[in-house]
Amino acid sequence: MTAARKHPVRAYGGSQHRIAKPVGRRGGVVLMPGHSAMETARTLFPSTVVHASVSPRVLIDGLNQRKIGRKVMKGKWRGFRIFTLTLEECATCPSSCKQWASCYGNNMPYARRHIGGEAFEAKLHDELAALQKRHPGGFVVRIHILGDFYSADYVQFWRDALTQFPALHVFGYTAHPPESEIGAQLLDMAVNGWDRFALRFSGAGFHSLGAETIERDEPTPHIVCPSQLNKTDCCATCALCWQSDRTIAFLRH
Ligand code: SF4
Ligand code: SF4
Repeated sequence: MTAARKHPVRAYGGSQHRIAKPVGRRGGVVLMPGHSAMETARTLFPSTVVHASVSPRVLIDGLNQRKIGRKVMKGKWRGFRIFTLTLEECATCPSSCKQWASCYGNNMPYARRHIGGEAFEAKLHDELAALQKRHPGGFVVRIHILGDFYSADYVQFWRDALTQFPALHVFGYTAHPPESEIGAQLLDMAVNGWDRFALRFSGAGFHSLGAETIERDEPTPHIVCPSQLNKTDCCATCALCWQSDRTIAFLRH
């Protein structure tokens, strides 16, 4: 058993290395200025974008996501099952995102991306209600593997969901600047409800509650994601994103 494998793989689902990365690429895909995907605020893979009415489910077992894992193995959310949620990148994101051209969605040709809106929110609500029943002791949603909070109403959706579903716990990141209208609402939710809404602000220059992208050899005062350093398998065995209020640094792909 390596240092990165302190827990039996079957317990948390493993790091899902069976889910292959796209091959033939070194480093992430960075779009050239003027690329149509950037200009139209769309994903590079429009055929993967689905309406909620034709999606089998919007919340996906963390087992199916490389680097997420199925069940939290440590910390205050220990034992909680993890589910992921994916929207269309760029279409739902603030154009101020500093990773707009180098979005890691550019490297995810197989992810099912959901279109935001009323039908999506209705389906998401039903699925959260079902998870509340199935996991009344707690469950986690890794919010927005791709995509972001696309409206103030959608932020309110999550505020209401946290009240309605006491077992719900959320972690993830947003590119909304904390001083923007949506960013200010999210900051309020994170600061006043971190125990269940661990949302980090990407590229905001925070020393806590932040997330920063750094180059591989760049010195940083922040904690570097241990999974990227091969010190742990996945989020399920790490838990830092919701355990620590220190900013986390991610190595650029
Ligand atoms: S907010 Fe995230 S998903 Fe959206 S463009 Fe930026 S990096 Fe991509
Ligand atoms: S710091 Fe830990 S919890 Fe956060 S993304 Fe990396 S592995 Fe996951």
